[in-house]
Amino acid sequence: MATAALKSPTLPFPFELTRSRRKTLVVYVRGGKVEVRCPLRASQEWILSFLKEKSAWIQHQLEVQRLKQRERLVIADNRFVPFFGKPRLIQVIICNQQKVVLRDEYLYIFVRAKNRDKLEQIFNNWLLQQAKEYMITQTIKYARLLGVEHRLKTVVFRRTKSKWGHCCQDGTIQYNWLAMMAPREVINYLIAHETSHLRHLDHSQRFWNTVALLCPNYKELRHWLGENGHRFWTETKD
Ligand SMILES: [Zn+2]
Repeated sequence: MATAALKSPTLPFPFELTRSRRKTLVVYVRGGKVEVRCPLRASQEWILSFLKEKSAWIQHQLEVQRLKQRERLVIADNRFVPFFGKPRLIQVIICNQQKVVLRDEYLYIFVRAKNRDKLEQIFNNWLLQQAKEYMITQTIKYARLLGVEHRLKTVVFRRTKSKWGHCCQDGTIQYNWLAMMAPREVINYLIAHETSHLRHLDHSQRFWNTVALLCPNYKELRHWLGENGHRFWTETKD
């Protein structure tokens, strides 16, 4: 495999070309970059005409990714961060102790001078604590309402990129604590979803009927999470 970064005067974007033992040409737009995979002996003309043909689609993808990137969170002084769906203005206070205090629309981050570059980590630890307090309590409440409390083994938290929640066969429910930035009803939908899996481990109609018992407007909330979830990610990747 050989990868090369290329530019063509006829294309409005640079791309990365990887030649390998494959038969077809394929293009990916990922992380704001255009990646082309092609057979070892693919001609330059073939590759360029393929990219020209896909140019409108590629540019659209690049623009969508750029917008999402711009919407990403930055944990810094005087930046806004959502919590329970409401924007809170971060106020960083350098002092001798380390803590996070939420007061109405302000989120105060007290930090020692030597840790001032660890704001994101401090914020994340705090958010995880909030998630533990709210989401575990709410999960137990919903499990009780559905009469499946005995099936709930434990609630764990993981920062997974692919999903907001997960329910295992053994009754372990997993949440991504970044969901605490979403509006309360969206968080509750996520909890209703995972708790309903304690009744039905699939996504059958019976499952969705169970979700609807706890969360009648689940469709709208599920859509919201799909459209807005990316805004709860900071630049750092795990
Ligand atoms: Zn599910």
